[in-house]
Amino acid sequence: MTELMIARDAELAGGAAEPDVAIVGAGPIGLTLALLLRAHGCSVVVLERHEGLSTHPKARGISARSMETFRGLGLEPQIRAAGLPPEHVRFSRGDTLADPASTVGAVPPTRRSAHTPSPGVLCSQDALESVLFDAAREAGVEVRFDSRVTEVTQAPAGVSLAIERATAAQAPVRARYVVGCDGAGSTVRRAAGIALQGERDLARFLSIRFRAELGETVRGREAASYFLTGGKGGFLAIDNDTRWVYQYPLPAGNDGAALQADPGALTSLVRAAAGLPELAVQVQDSMVWRMDARIADTYRNGRILLAGDAAHQTPPTGGHGMNVGIGDAETLSWQLAAVLRGDADEVLLDKYTAERRPVGAEVIAISSGNYGARYGIDDELLLGTHLGVTPPLNADPYAPSGAIGRRIPHVALTGDPAAASTLDLVRHRWLVLIDRHDPAWHAAAAASAAVDGRASVPVVPVTSGARCEVEPGSFTTRAGLAHGEGLLVRPDGHIAARLAGPAALDTIAERVV
Ligand SMILES: Cc1cc2nc3c(=O)[nH]c(=O)nc-3n(C[C@H](O)[C@H](O)[C@H](O)COP(=O)(O)OP(=O)(O)OC[C@H]3O[C@@H](n4cnc5c(N)ncnc54)[C@H](O)[C@@H]3O)c2cc1C
Repeated sequence: MTELMIARDAELAGGAAEPDVAIVGAGPIGLTLALLLRAHGCSVVVLERHEGLSTHPKARGISARSMETFRGLGLEPQIRAAGLPPEHVRFSRGDTLADPASTVGAVPPTRRSAHTPSPGVLCSQDALESVLFDAAREAGVEVRFDSRVTEVTQAPAGVSLAIERATAAQAPVRARYVVGCDGAGSTVRRAAGIALQGERDLARFLSIRFRAELGETVRGREAASYFLTGGKGGFLAIDNDTRWVYQYPLPAGNDGAALQADPGALTSLVRAAAGLPELAVQVQDSMVWRMDARIADTYRNGRILLAGDAAHQTPPTGGHGMNVGIGDAETLSWQLAAVLRGDADEVLLDKYTAERRPVGAEVIAISSGNYGARYGIDDELLLGTHLGVTPPLNADPYAPSGAIGRRIPHVALTGDPAAASTLDLVRHRWLVLIDRHDPAWHAAAAASAAVDGRASVPVVPVTSGARCEVEPGSFTTRAGLAHGEGLLVRPDGHIAARLAGPAALDTIAERVV
């Protein structure tokens, strides 16, 4: 962090300065975006209507691509430690939770994969948010709780956000850009006049978070989700011991309000679904959620942008709603930072919609297909995201590729404590990735910088000094590199161009922003 940034942040903490970006919503997407923007050197304030973080676990499946993003932020170990052990990541089916005839999938093989250094993990959303929040504060993000955004107004140079607080009056917050990460009912989206299209109310569930001694009941057949036959919904394991969530499908026309107001009724629902009429149940809270399959017409109106559920609502039957939002944050962060630095024209922000909206639409289609059919989770689905290209995703199993728009292939590395994967070489910056040290590439990079006076894009060899591939030749094979070819890689790890050789460096200036 530069001295200027530190001074500016200190001013911001005192409320005097105007941050680069105001993020509305301290959910998983708002907090991830805040961390990524900080990694790109932007000042950020996060405004959250509640007095603290959410306590109700919704998402639990953090997929491989999201874990790669968190790896880049240095948070993978903490998130993995907060998750379920990998051997619990399987599904059970039975008449009740205690049903002795329940079936359960085989213990999954180790989640190590040749495709990623960071396989997915089952970590409940509240635990994830807490890791992200601590990291965000440490990175200098100001998170203001009890700050409900009620209006957003745009001016040529910035935005103004009206804030309502339960405890005190609050002056409007001004920023250069605002990103609505405020969930499905987004106020920011409404303020921007952006409409949603798609299907609403596919189903409604009452989600009951409770504590009960159920560890012995499931001992030896622990699973991540326990689906119940007869339309009774299912249990989600938080720790497969005392912390649980029961998802009760609400009958048509029932909004769940009466049940929520009656702790005895909630306890009875849990006992019936568990098949244990005497079970001691401590209900902690409950929420009603609606299954929608909708997407915003655009993710941008001027200085107002959308990410996460504010932009797309995905049926959870596929486990990708949050994961696709984390991908939004990764792409938006570098594009917004480039515009804020003055390195790119605002038009770059239109690329954000063009690249990410098709991915959101495809994930909705895949997840809607799962609903009513067999519940399926493909941990590696989003590794195949193809930005700016049709189709943006392929439902086939992931296969590495060096095509433009794809994320660079993972190849395991050794000999460099800072890089165990090719993905670790990206570090939120533009770079040219080549197979091995090549003086011609480095000379060309130095020469192109000397011509226009700009810092050159670093040329990074996969094999360099002590650093080498665990399986020599893997990167060239997986990326399909011809002799002497290099990949121009964006700060989000996606391939912007294939460069035939060092001479092609002269042509990249207008692509690198
Ligand atoms: C049962 C269930 C299971 C799921 N499982 C998975 C899964 O396994 N994997 C997966 O990827 N996804 C899953 N999802 C989806 C996932 O929960 C959502 O996609 C995710 O929560 C979206 O995050 P977000 O940050 O965009 O929005 P949210 O989590 O909704 O957060 C929005 C935040 O904005 C705040 N806010 C709202 N309005 C305002 C305002 N006006 N001013 C200030 N703050 C405001 C809210 O209080 C909230 O904190 C599941 C969802 C459900 C319901």
